[in-house]
Amino acid sequence: KDHGRDNYAFYDPDLHQNRRSSRHSTLERALHHALDDNQLVLLYQPQIDLESGQIRGVEALLRWHHPELGTISPTEFIPLAEETGLIHAISDWVLRTACAQNSAWHRQGHTTMRMAVNLSAQQFSKPGLDQLVHEVLLDTGLAPRWLELELTETIALRDIDAAISTLKALKSMGVRIAIDDFGTGYSSLSYLKHFPVHSIKIDRSFINGITTNSSDAAITRAVIAMAQNLGVRVVAEGVESEKQLIFLRTYQCHEVQGYYFFRPLPEKSITQLLQRQSEKHADSPAWRNPVP
Ligand code: C2E
Ligand code: MG
Ligand code: MG
Ligand code: MG
Repeated sequence: KDHGRDNYAFYDPDLHQNRRSSRHSTLERALHHALDDNQLVLLYQPQIDLESGQIRGVEALLRWHHPELGTISPTEFIPLAEETGLIHAISDWVLRTACAQNSAWHRQGHTTMRMAVNLSAQQFSKPGLDQLVHEVLLDTGLAPRWLELELTETIALRDIDAAISTLKALKSMGVRIAIDDFGTGYSSLSYLKHFPVHSIKIDRSFINGITTNSSDAAITRAVIAMAQNLGVRVVAEGVESEKQLIFLRTYQCHEVQGYYFFRPLPEKSITQLLQRQSEKHADSPAWRNPVP
């Protein structure tokens, strides 16, 4: 009988809702201290140039290590940060930390390393983003061309005119712009003509199916061809297998990022990889399982 009641409780939508909102408010309260208590960490996932096999840059990916709740995914806490307004302090910290890190790598001799930073919707629409980026670059000593800002189509298309003017301001400073999760938003291709974009990142939901699903393969080929015709760099996200790599190489995708090469890694591991790359292994691919 007790067992039955537990089952009932488990499926009780109200209770489920309560549990959800209880985690929600617990996280919300905890998030206020996350930054000050040094619970936020950036990991960096390499982006590899397929022509040279070398690490061209990294994407900064945020992690929240809570002492009791464990590691919380950015997909869970970024929306919370947006609701509470904490997103501004958090994303300032991300931008500053990522630029300072890349500046340090440049000083260590890795002078062509690029740092990609994800922008949240609110961060992108807050007036003065270009000024903030300018300040952070000055403070950290990083040249603008080594910073790439990633935003999704959904963010960019929310207010197209405002987005175009923000992107133009950033571009005129020399900062690069990438469209993230390409293909999952409105996919209104005509906007690409008006947006000063340097690269597009094909969403991993397409890459996932390129060797098994003919539509995913066709879409990916079309996006690569379009990017090449527009003179835009194209990055495949979420590459997990050698078969996918071979496909992407066949259709001349420029860069790849995914678990097949590297997971998001702490700063120290990236520093080691870069050292290895610039020392003895300068002409061999950076990843462990090179395709012959
Ligand atoms: P995103 O920008 O599209 O980042 C790519 C996500 O795919 C990352 O998840 C990465 O760890 C994961 N990934 C990379 N390679 C593979 C792969 O081969 N297979 C699979 N299954 N996954 C792979 P993560 O780190 O959990 O980040 C999720 C999202 O959270 C990001 O998607 C981005 O939208 C957001 N995010 C992360 N860091 C930040 C940040 O600093 N600021 C903002 N505003 N958003 C962030
Ligand atoms: Mg991204
Ligand atoms: Mg993405
Ligand atoms: Mg994403």
